Amino acid sequence: MPRAYAGSAMIDLHAHSTASDGTTSPTEVVAAARDAGLSTVALTDHDTTAGWDEAVGASTAYGVALVRGIEISCSHRGTSIHLLGYLPDPADEALAEELEHARRSRVTRLQRMVERMAAAGIPISYADVLGQVDGPETTVGRPHIADALVAKGVVPDRSSAFADYLSDRSPYFVSHYAPDPVAAVRLVRRAGGVPVMAHPFASARGRVVADSVIASMAGAGLGGLEVEHRDHTAQQRAHGHDLARSLGLFTTGSSDFHGEGKLNRLGEYTTSLEVLAQIEAEAVSGIRVVRP
Ligand code: AMP
Ligand code: ZN
Ligand code: FE
Ligand code: FE
Repeated sequence: MPRAYAGSAMIDLHAHSTASDGTTSPTEVVAAARDAGLSTVALTDHDTTAGWDEAVGASTAYGVALVRGIEISCSHRGTSIHLLGYLPDPADEALAEELEHARRSRVTRLQRMVERMAAAGIPISYADVLGQVDGPETTVGRPHIADALVAKGVVPDRSSAFADYLSDRSPYFVSHYAPDPVAAVRLVRRAGGVPVMAHPFASARGRVVADSVIASMAGAGLGGLEVEHRDHTAQQRAHGHDLARSLGLFTTGSSDFHGEGKLNRLGEYTTSLEVLAQIEAEAVSGIRVVRP
């Protein structure tokens, strides 16, 4: 099995597990990271730290360093933004409350989406969706509706489900509670973590915010931009590097792995050792990178 050789660094700072909408458990994410030759992987489930403890154990078992993180769904005047937070204190009350609020809202939002779909004659119930969710701690999302539609034979895969039923332009779409991105940046910093804006320019997947919003986030303490990501074109990457330089932000590259739920493969984009060191240096939560 391929493995990072001593001294090499292959760092992927964005991956999802069954604690949110990934299809592999935290342990399997770390095992897959080892198989992909990664030296370091970050577990960044949507709006939850529920996968962290399992991943810590797997980090030691599989010999892959682990960065504990989250990906917070934010909303700027109705435009969805994702904010990665690395090494925050999960016991920070303000952060924990905000994440819990978002997770609760995600449940009612998914129920409403399913009601709309059922009313339109699509054969799906919320029980079908729950059948696709790993456990009570899991952050639910549209991919779980997608998985229920696949299980029912309505669509062949998650991508088709998004194209046909689940996009934010679809008549069934309902939004959920999500904090403002500037507030979320402050929340992550106050919890001692390091905020990095995920896929800032991914216009193919939906609306994106103007650079002025990113500048406001930088003013509030944003650390970096995830520039190297499969959802960015070459021009968007070039622009991202320029914008990061002008705002004094570092840049990362990551896969946004979701197991079999998406094509993204671990290690397809990576982050430098220097940037990982900066993230570690800026984190003041007491949560450290786990080094086996
Ligand atoms: P939600 O968090 O419920 O708003 O759902 C958004 C999640 O759905 C994102 O984290 C993506 O990973 C996933 N997603 C969005 N578009 C697609 C797609 N075309 N195929 C598979 N997954 C997708
Ligand atoms: Zn996701
Ligand atoms: Fe994202
Ligand atoms: Fe993600």
